[in-house]
Amino acid sequence: MSSARFDQLPLDPSLLGNLNDLGYTQMTEIQARALPELLAGRDVIGQAKTGSGKTATFGLALLNKLRVERFRVQGLVLCPTRELADQVARELRKLARAIHNIKILTLCGGMPFGPQLASLDHGAHIVVGTPGRIEEHVRKGKLDLSEVHTLVLDEADRMLDMGFQETVDAIVAGTPAARQSLLFSATYPDSIEALAARVLHNPVRITVESKHSAQTINQHFYRVGNNEQRLAAVAQLLWHFQPGSAVIFCNTKRETEEIATHLNEHNVLALALHGDLEQKQRDQVLTCFANGSSRVLVATDVAARGLDIESLELVINYQLSRDPEVHVHRIGRTGRAGESGHAVSLVSEREDFKLTSVGASADAIEALPQARHQTLADPDWVTLQLDGGKKQKLRPGDIVGALTRNDCLVFEQIGKIAVADNWAYVAVDRGVWKKALQQLDKGKLKGRSFRVRRVNLG
Ligand code: ADP
Ligand code: MG
Repeated sequence: MSSARFDQLPLDPSLLGNLNDLGYTQMTEIQARALPELLAGRDVIGQAKTGSGKTATFGLALLNKLRVERFRVQGLVLCPTRELADQVARELRKLARAIHNIKILTLCGGMPFGPQLASLDHGAHIVVGTPGRIEEHVRKGKLDLSEVHTLVLDEADRMLDMGFQETVDAIVAGTPAARQSLLFSATYPDSIEALAARVLHNPVRITVESKHSAQTINQHFYRVGNNEQRLAAVAQLLWHFQPGSAVIFCNTKRETEEIATHLNEHNVLALALHGDLEQKQRDQVLTCFANGSSRVLVATDVAARGLDIESLELVINYQLSRDPEVHVHRIGRTGRAGESGHAVSLVSEREDFKLTSVGASADAIEALPQARHQTLADPDWVTLQLDGGKKQKLRPGDIVGALTRNDCLVFEQIGKIAVADNWAYVAVDRGVWKKALQQLDKGKLKGRSFRVRRVNLG
């Protein structure tokens, strides 16, 4: 449970009264974090474990927007199985008790067709069901989705596991483009990412994670005054700590770019990662950070979520997060696997109140350390990109073979190799990157030549 109450939300009084009757006063964490975004009309990806109250999260947003006097299907909830659809419909009916004449219909496979057609003839405000049967009704012209304002994909990971991808796409195609789309899932595999990219528009991603511990992490809190000092402090900390790898967490896309630009102008190569990057740019940034071609990544929490780096030497919180769980998650990225790491947070006087929520107090605040050298060592690696990948049957071994031919490079000078569908990245020792580029450029791989370029960072 979070400490937030439902009556802090801009919900219709009849919904609030009913929640009270149901004994729902405090929101669960996913509800407290997602409902404000949902009620503001944003698309949302919600990830939280089973039993965390996801149904009421999307249910309340859907019901709050519903115009019961307009007898058309306005909400559509897709679930992987009939059992889950029944559960969701039950919970929605419970939440909707105070709305008179509301009709919630379930449409699932394995049930006789006739009664469903009769129900559809009578009309409904909300349809809950499994993709196969719903698509069938749409295809036969029995279910009109043209007035759906809220689309929910519940347990989306399981729907994909069950092979519903194309069916879901076909259903979505029948709904208005201006709808609000919500996706809930317990896990977040790549296939969900692709589905979300097709169905959701500029979604907010909310993940409720289980806590991890913070034992092997050295935490420091540094005082900054205005924003200019905050920006300057980032470079100073990187110069001071000289980390092999570091992530700077900040709140907005604008900040990620502002900080990365500032660092690049101050002898520190840094990459910005935020939700508005195209998939290809995002892959490139993550690849170049993971393979050591950049020591520094500046990221929003959401964008950094998929980042799987074993152990960072330094995490900088550009601002303290107000949410203790986010804070623990950020600093938990250092000191993994028994290695020690530093987690530092920049705190202005106006932010001191946030210290208690992360288990610290203003006494913990230190002055910024003074750096001896105003530069961060260059990354050890440089990334080269080839314009061929899996589709051209290129494998990492082919790249290694080409690079080591005629004793051009030795194995130690070749770093991580990532092969995508139509291109490949290879990290090579900074000292020999030109030689490596020439070798790949003039030599043949798989009997043909590929174009090669150095990935230009910052
Ligand atoms: P999930 O979809 O995450 O598996 P559910 O939406 O089914 O979770 O909710 C699990 C249970 O918690 C349901 O029985 C529901 O009625 C109850 N529940 C949900 N939100 C609250 C709340 N804020 N207060 C009390 N009970 C709640
Ligand atoms: Mg659920």
